[in-house]
Amino acid sequence: MRYDLHLHSYYSDGTLAPAALIERARTAGVDVMALTDHDCLDGLAEAQAAVQIAGMRLVPGVEISVTWNTMTIHILGLGVDANHAALKQGLAQLAERRHERAKEISRKLEKRRIYGAYEGVRRLVQGNIIGRAHFAQFLVREGYVSEARLAFKQYLLRGAAAYVSAQWATLDEAIGWIHAAGGQSVIAHPTRYKISNGKLRELTRDFKNSGGDAIEVACGGQTAQESARAGALAKEFGLLASAGSDYHGPETSWLTPGKFPPIPEDCTPIWHDWPKLAS
Ligand code: AMP
Ligand code: MN
Ligand code: MN
Ligand code: MN
Repeated sequence: MRYDLHLHSYYSDGTLAPAALIERARTAGVDVMALTDHDCLDGLAEAQAAVQIAGMRLVPGVEISVTWNTMTIHILGLGVDANHAALKQGLAQLAERRHERAKEISRKLEKRRIYGAYEGVRRLVQGNIIGRAHFAQFLVREGYVSEARLAFKQYLLRGAAAYVSAQWATLDEAIGWIHAAGGQSVIAHPTRYKISNGKLRELTRDFKNSGGDAIEVACGGQTAQESARAGALAKEFGLLASAGSDYHGPETSWLTPGKFPPIPEDCTPIWHDWPKLAS
């Protein structure tokens, strides 16, 4: 069985509809996939219908924005009940904060004589989630930068001209919502945060102490050394190992569904005790 437990659709900042995303994953040889849109569950019903047609299995997921020690980190929820009230309410608050942040980003861009960003970005957004990737898309489309990477560097990353900090969920809230909705919590792409080894261990310890379940040991774009480092963290803190591409669509990166380094042999995959399904 080939698992990819981290993928995005256009309900957050991916570029594909759930059905088109699932077709890409199927072509890449994925059997079990999680749709994990940022702070929303809106694509899951469409995804469930599409995996049945594709003969695949869907793990209903979400990628929750969390503020930990003033840093933004991402916590995946896997196997969540998409109709759970506490989870839905928590995510609705985050979506609202994203809208407020978007208005502020737009005001900062106006100071740089970039006008109409909020309205322009609203037209690019398919669902209810506005993200920085949509601003990057807008800035490329309007010719202010040549590629999304540069939009992030010049305008959207921390320290850049239109960066706006936001207060997302706490680690305890995110893990609490995920568990209440029957899911497992996972630290997403641990080796991508720009923090020291010591800080990453501190984050992993806090996560474990808050009842966290797993760490994304294998992710798209990672080197073998990075996954070994994440695997060592998983073992040190007694966490399960997850794996996912973080694919956002063909336009946005070189990543491919199902493509990431193998989980190190001595880690326990998060799916080790998932019920086996025929399809
Ligand atoms: P947000 O959650 O709206 O703050 O945006 C974070 C998202 O922006 C990530 O999930 C990525 O999809 C994208 N992203 C973050 N950093 C970069 C970057 N340097 N270049 C391109 N995309 C990025
Ligand atoms: Mn994203
Ligand atoms: Mn992420
Ligand atoms: Mn992601």
